[in-house]
Amino acid sequence: MKAAVSREVGRIAVEDLAIAGPGPGEIGIRVEATGVCHTDLSALEGKLPIPRPIVLGHEGAGVVTALGPGVEGLALGDKVVCSIIAPCRACFQCTRGDPAMCERIAFYTGRMQDGTTRLRRGEEEVYSLSYQGSFAEEAVVPAACAVRVPREAPLEKLCGLACGVSTGLGAAMVRAEVEAGSTVVVIGAGGVGLSTLMGARLREAERLIAVDVVPAKLARAQALGLATDVIDATREDVALVVRELSGGRGADYAFDAAGVPGTAEQAIEVLRPGGKAVVIGRVGDVRLDIPTTQVLRHKWVTGTFGGSIDPHRHIPEFVDLYLRGRLDLDGLMDTSYALDDLERAFADLREGRVTRGVICFASPTS
Ligand SMILES: [Zn+2]
Ligand SMILES: [Zn+2]
Repeated sequence: MKAAVSREVGRIAVEDLAIAGPGPGEIGIRVEATGVCHTDLSALEGKLPIPRPIVLGHEGAGVVTALGPGVEGLALGDKVVCSIIAPCRACFQCTRGDPAMCERIAFYTGRMQDGTTRLRRGEEEVYSLSYQGSFAEEAVVPAACAVRVPREAPLEKLCGLACGVSTGLGAAMVRAEVEAGSTVVVIGAGGVGLSTLMGARLREAERLIAVDVVPAKLARAQALGLATDVIDATREDVALVVRELSGGRGADYAFDAAGVPGTAEQAIEVLRPGGKAVVIGRVGDVRLDIPTTQVLRHKWVTGTFGGSIDPHRHIPEFVDLYLRGRLDLDGLMDTSYALDDLERAFADLREGRVTRGVICFASPTS
């Protein structure tokens, strides 16, 4: 089967690989669509500690083609979205109700949860990112990450729910539990930031303030109806404008969806006393440097992995919102590519030319 393999930093190319059948607790899927996420780009560019050669891609959605021993609740032909969160339901964190912090999650090891791999080229072992490696025609994934979705649902729109879109929605709806009527600041208006704004709007936040350094991204946030106000951080003093927009008080919630040096500090700075900051993204090794007086003002600072969702509870809820027309995934997942066009997809993501790219194995539209 064809898969996009990265053998060295900055390089990725389609190769023919052999794929083993699913092991216990795993399933095989025929990938129909897979989102192109900033984490894939960071992995490609050597900013994440991954082994190589590796098949990148971790927002896979497809059709179940094989069931490993012991898999229950899924059938051949089911459509599934494969979340980056594959909770074991048995460890300390899963049993205390925090499946996103499952102690068996093995995101950057390149291996399945049992420590082995499923991909080969001849005798050579090939790793897979986030136990799925979905830049491929086929993938073996833990059944625990596979969330069944309705057959009529378009997987090229839903695949972002595997990671990026759920991360943004969950940051606002699950991690922060944004309250109705509140003022929300989102720093970084890319795919995850826009998803965060969508989540805050679904929670009926009153003021949605998007911050970015790229005017086109701010314009897109407004065009999608996701921002009541925008701030161009290259031209305006973000904390000052947020204070003005919030009656001199500061924001109730602030999200750092940019993840570059200084943006988490900015999220904390724009908060009112007692407000909540959530760090979502990071690009490489970013550190937090804030005066402790900021937290002495009762500010809460936390982060999220994957939006802190329980995939089997929240992804069906998000899909339902989409099918009822309340979640504009069509506006987010705006560009599709063939697998052979992956380099162009990465270039478009890097340059901010698309909101969210999708590799489609059926019928690409561009
Ligand atoms: Zn667990
Ligand atoms: Zn991702």
